Amino acid sequence: MGQEVRTERSAFEPVGGTSLPIFRRDTGGYAAFYAPGCLCIIELPRAVQFEQSLRQPPPTLADSISGWSGELQRRAMLAVAAADAWREGTFRPECLTLYMNNECNMSCSYCHTDPSPRPATRLDLEAIDAAAKMTAAYCRQKDRPFYAVFHGGGEPSLHRQRVETAMALIERAAADQDVEVVRYVATNGLLPEEKANWLAHRFDLVGLSCDGPPDLHDAQRPRWDGRGSLSAVERTARILREEGCHLHARTTITRAGLRRQAEISTYICQQIAPEEIHFEPVYVGGRTDPTNALSTKEADDFVTHFLAARAVATGYGIRLLSSGSRPGELHGPHCHVFRDVINLVPGDVATACFKLTEATEIHNKGAAIGAVDQDSGRFEIDQGQIRALAEQLAAPPPQCAGCFNRYHCTRECPDTCLLDSSNPVWEPGFRCRVQAAITSAILQETADRLWSEVLGGKRQGAHGTTTF
Ligand code: SF4
Ligand code: SF4
Repeated sequence: MGQEVRTERSAFEPVGGTSLPIFRRDTGGYAAFYAPGCLCIIELPRAVQFEQSLRQPPPTLADSISGWSGELQRRAMLAVAAADAWREGTFRPECLTLYMNNECNMSCSYCHTDPSPRPATRLDLEAIDAAAKMTAAYCRQKDRPFYAVFHGGGEPSLHRQRVETAMALIERAAADQDVEVVRYVATNGLLPEEKANWLAHRFDLVGLSCDGPPDLHDAQRPRWDGRGSLSAVERTARILREEGCHLHARTTITRAGLRRQAEISTYICQQIAPEEIHFEPVYVGGRTDPTNALSTKEADDFVTHFLAARAVATGYGIRLLSSGSRPGELHGPHCHVFRDVINLVPGDVATACFKLTEATEIHNKGAAIGAVDQDSGRFEIDQGQIRALAEQLAAPPPQCAGCFNRYHCTRECPDTCLLDSSNPVWEPGFRCRVQAAITSAILQETADRLWSEVLGGKRQGAHGTTTF
């Protein structure tokens, strides 16, 4: 296991004299400058002059940029523009996410959606057809592929024929607009061999849930009769790999797995062998309440063991990340209103929030953003409601104002949410500490690599990167 990590807010301080989000941290012989998506280092004696150049009026986004100070300014302007677009932009979906049914063949101890073992409400095929036609038209306008996602609210692959029918509707809508379809399914992996084969050939990417060594996985992710599910999940992973399907693993980190993350990572790298691993701290909701979720006091432990797990995966040539903070992307909370995602749930309503799977709850929380118009039969997006939700959900909490991580952070989502009237204000908690510390560690690791290239004589002067 690596060194213990303390999740202090941030040692990156805003650079004064500019309104752009550019930050500085001094370490050893160099200063690191950071703007969202760009990190640059320079020897300490030259850092004052470099910092001065960051206070010059920035070029416009249309200007050509030279040098790392210009690139830092450009990246900072892009981040500000992206945040404005989240709040004020028009919602033009390019991804259709379908929660096919609130029904599952497993009984995970922590599930935030709490699905039923029995047939439950299902998504209507006419709604899928209308939403697919609308999404395909936007994809055509934007010259983007159509992302078709089968996810959540239970196990999406349970009723194969319905998935096939939905997929056929999506493929026809995309073909009519001449756009490519990219197909993703998130599955629990408890499938017969023949269905795993079908999945491998029908989807471009499969996200497979696995919580690691048998004692942990089978305790957390049992079948409804209490038997473990890991042997079936491993068989599914083997079939997907053998059939050449792209495979990602998703692992939920609970209190039981908190200090076992390196061991979990080893297990997944060896037994599941995915291309990418996602470790997610357990979400509050459904079967998890704040008493069995991870607490702020456990943030340091989470980060220490997460970084150890990441180092293990790196040794296997596998990327391990967590969705709360992705330094390579500009992003805020997971809300669909910021991501051009139409997420249909049983009851045939589009939800602004991935965590809400029941139409009644979605309406009660004001999170409905679209549905089929009964007169025209077309899918109608409620742009006014989307604008209002985006204003409400994008408002940066006061604690985030000077934070170096604020353009790559889901904040306390999905554990606490401004949509929930009992949470009128976001308080910094477990997720804030974890996300800032993980981004900080990744930036430090990158800065150290850049500095070793300078010391090795490969580079001189300011040296930076836009890849994390
Ligand atoms: S929990 Fe709230 S902040 Fe998170 S995705 Fe849902 S609506 Fe957005
Ligand atoms: S929630 Fe995110 S952006 Fe806000 S202070 Fe914490 S790490 Fe920074």
